[in-house]
Amino acid sequence: MKIKKFSKKPFDWEERTGAKPVVCYPNTNLQDNNLDVLLKARKFLVKKNEITISPRDAKTFEVNSGNFFRIESIEGPQVGDLNLFQLNNLNEKFYSGKTRALYGTHISVGDKMYSNLPYLRSLATITWDTLDWYGYDSDGGSVHDVIGTRCDPYTSKLLSGNDYHYCCHSNLTRALVKEKNIEIKKAEKIVHDVLNVFMCTGFTKDTKQYFMKASPVRPGDYIEFFAETDLLGVLSACPGGDCGSEHSSDTAKCYPLKVSIWSVDQKYLENIKQSETSSYNKNHGID
Ligand SMILES: [Zn+2]
Repeated sequence: MKIKKFSKKPFDWEERTGAKPVVCYPNTNLQDNNLDVLLKARKFLVKKNEITISPRDAKTFEVNSGNFFRIESIEGPQVGDLNLFQLNNLNEKFYSGKTRALYGTHISVGDKMYSNLPYLRSLATITWDTLDWYGYDSDGGSVHDVIGTRCDPYTSKLLSGNDYHYCCHSNLTRALVKEKNIEIKKAEKIVHDVLNVFMCTGFTKDTKQYFMKASPVRPGDYIEFFAETDLLGVLSACPGGDCGSEHSSDTAKCYPLKVSIWSVDQKYLENIKQSETSSYNKNHGID
């Protein structure tokens, strides 16, 4: 938050600040033909299963490679915090920071959710988003961000002094402990920064602080993903509700979320390019 300036401006400040921005990671190489295939395939989806996630709680779900899943608003505006793991190797998990570096602050149709190093492959591609009309608003806000982290009891304690047990970090941890029999210390360590589903966020123009505003999501809205490997998902219905006022408390009105799993006849996916883990040789200049 660079509001105060302690140091003196140098004589050549204009020259030093006038450089042109260059996109760090030009992502044109990431565009492939999968999206065309997926947009056609999704017209033939058949629902296999669905679960409901209660407010201020989380649940796990599994999606086989080649299937789709949707996260849907069902009773009222509600934000969801999503973690994704490779089902058979929980060390491989969603990497929000690199996904942000590749695509920007918020993601939507055609964008891929990349996994952490040394894997760095697409775990899932977004194939539909009923909120993609929102774009960026006049505050620079948008939906489905990869700039936030997840609400957690440690930051809550730091800022308010209170112990609160139903932040997304705790909800995600609890779901892994209860449903997957993972020991609590291990579960907490593998919970990671999320895709903030339906959350409307940005950075303030003056202080560049992370802001949230009431989500534009309404019952019936959904975001849909194509699973590119076998996935373990965990979704928390955030205690912030629509995140229009506050989170990390029992104050906000909260609603459940629905997760549904869909399959499609594999003939529609014949031309899909498989998502592979990175082929970098991991030498790191040692030899
Ligand atoms: Zn949350």
